[in-house]
Amino acid sequence: MSTSVSLEKDERFMRLAIQEAWDGNRTPGAGEVGCVIVMDGEVVASGHNEAEMRHDPTAHAEIVTLRKLGQTWKKTDFRGCTLYCTLQPCSMCAVACVWAKITRVVFGATRDDVHSMYFDTKHINASDIIRDAFRDDMEIVGGVLARECSELYYRPQDQPPPEEQVNI
Ligand SMILES: [Zn+2]
Repeated sequence: MSTSVSLEKDERFMRLAIQEAWDGNRTPGAGEVGCVIVMDGEVVASGHNEAEMRHDPTAHAEIVTLRKLGQTWKKTDFRGCTLYCTLQPCSMCAVACVWAKITRVVFGATRDDVHSMYFDTKHINASDIIRDAFRDDMEIVGGVLARECSELYYRPQDQPPPEEQVNI
């Protein structure tokens, strides 16, 4: 598969993740991070952040979507799947992808594109966790449709109202 075909495919699925994120943005208690998981060119699960709705600090878009797929497939091994997310996964979600044996992780906006409140720490980069600590067979690709994805979030220079600052 040529790089351009691959990029075109990644952008197509990222657009679906962006739709999920906007759905989350419009849903009270849900959040503006979207995720889809793809196997053999088909979306097999999709979701968005549901942390406030569920009173569950772990209900990030990636975790919500991994759980949906586990329920559908009745298993925990998602080898061969690509997970698309509108925002660079946090450390928790990156490690969840490791446990789920996701083959590829593709994300849109990087942590440098958005306000620091979206990340658990300024010092740990989830890409480094995957690269350095856990698996050498998981591919992680960032910046796909980064501009469109960034529009969902506060930018680094923005000053979000205190009640929206989720990580202070
Ligand atoms: Zn997360």
